[in-house]
Amino acid sequence: MPPSRREFLGVVAGATAAGALGSRALAQTPLTPTPACGADAATPAQTEGPYFKPSSPERLSLLEPEMRGRRLVVTGVVRGTDCKPVPRALLDFWHADAGGRYDNAGYRLRGHQFTDAEGRYRLETILPGVYPGRARHIHVKAQAPNRPPLTTQLYFPGEAGNARDGIFDPALLVALADAADVATARFDFVLSR
Ligand code: FE
Repeated sequence: MPPSRREFLGVVAGATAAGALGSRALAQTPLTPTPACGADAATPAQTEGPYFKPSSPERLSLLEPEMRGRRLVVTGVVRGTDCKPVPRALLDFWHADAGGRYDNAGYRLRGHQFTDAEGRYRLETILPGVYPGRARHIHVKAQAPNRPPLTTQLYFPGEAGNARDGIFDPALLVALADAADVATARFDFVLSR
């Protein structure tokens, strides 16, 4: 078994109780509904936590050679509460590596990008590892002209850690699908005015 495969199994071992990411059955898991836009539908804010670093590089992929972990692609649309897509919204992502560690010295697994003319984004990365006290999550800051910035976190369905995490919010669950070589997550952001 090549090291990458072995490490993937290691990564998911912690999630086996939860099942979702450790099981091929995930392919049949129905996608959770994408949050609708509307006056009360703004994406909930969450703490940025202790590991945010400003000035991340602009890039669509956080993958680097020899990076451990399960490949993950996150896609979605940024909308306003009026349901209209927000073009050129800045999305700044950061998360832990497969071992649950943040890079606080450099910018590994940190990067920002801008939504396209239809408000779409696409992030290529790895599934974040878990670390003590927290459910598996991705941090994000979203910012668009004439709107208050949003700092929040995205979570993964079927994780045992969700129920144990005091700040977990089901409104921030991604819709997750799985394929042989990559997990695909979908999340649409709704920015307030
Ligand atoms: Fe974190």
